[in-house]
Amino acid sequence: MKNFLKLLALALLETGLILALPFLMPRPEAAEPEPAPEAPTEEKEEPEEAPERTIPVLTREGFVTEMPLEDYLFGVVAAEMPARFEPEALKAQAVAARTYALYRAAGDKHGGAVCEDPACCQAWLEEAQLREKWGADYEANAAKLRRAVEDTAGQLLTWDGAPVLAAFHACSGGWTETGENVFGLDLPYLQSVPSMEDPASVRDYETTVTLEAGELLATLAAWDEEAALAASGGPLLTDPVYSPAGRLLRLRLCGVEITGQTLRRLFSLRSTQLTWQRTESGGLSFTVTGYGHGAGMSQYGAQAMALKGEGYEEILAHFYPGTTLERMGNEQ
Ligand SMILES: [Zn+2]
Repeated sequence: MKNFLKLLALALLETGLILALPFLMPRPEAAEPEPAPEAPTEEKEEPEEAPERTIPVLTREGFVTEMPLEDYLFGVVAAEMPARFEPEALKAQAVAARTYALYRAAGDKHGGAVCEDPACCQAWLEEAQLREKWGADYEANAAKLRRAVEDTAGQLLTWDGAPVLAAFHACSGGWTETGENVFGLDLPYLQSVPSMEDPASVRDYETTVTLEAGELLATLAAWDEEAALAASGGPLLTDPVYSPAGRLLRLRLCGVEITGQTLRRLFSLRSTQLTWQRTESGGLSFTVTGYGHGAGMSQYGAQAMALKGEGYEEILAHFYPGTTLERMGNEQ
């Protein structure tokens, strides 16, 4: 009996201990809550993200590379328009550049690629070049230009549902030129419209190019030796024909008819809005207004409109009259 009681006491003690064990044991750290069971899968309402649009770019090295369109546009706006310009002018530039790239992608030139030559398609600079160009201002400028691209993401100008030839140039010198007179393309949205550039705020609004007699002779001989010889001593530039916008369309050089654009290239002039006079020493002096071919959007004109409080939609509607501003994916 004594032994039984002893056993019972031991058993009770053990049971008590066992019961008390959880309270005596150190409390474990708060455990991670059990992951909630996955909610029953429901059809998600959000539309699937469209795959990022890329654009074929013909590089200076002569090969074609596919670039994400919006990344490419940052490099175009940075190369084509001063970063100090107003945000609305930069946004207009972003839409024009996007439209231009999509126009090229839909066409045959360069096999549907857009090139980096500003004299042909549109300029583009990569990050390393922009860091060198902007120096300490890189971060601030890059943020400002990225915003212009992002704020207009996917927006382009169309005519009859297709991207337009959204040509642009630096400074029109008062009036833009028609697409017919610049590219030989009579397009309803590339007509001559006034541009409000402020001559005082445009560097080199008017420039002068003077060739001394020897330099003039060498240039003419390189162009057409026979014509230059035949005309030596005779009239040099005759029969000029100007467009209503004030640009030289054609004239005779040493008796040979050439276009104003050919004359511009021959003497490295900034535009075809020009006059000339012979110098006393037998040379030739050109006076040139503005910069660029003159068709489509004038960048300084866009800046002047933005400074007056106009938005990028108004700027684009002014320089590309009759076009529709719409989102990518709706165009044909
Ligand atoms: Zn090109």
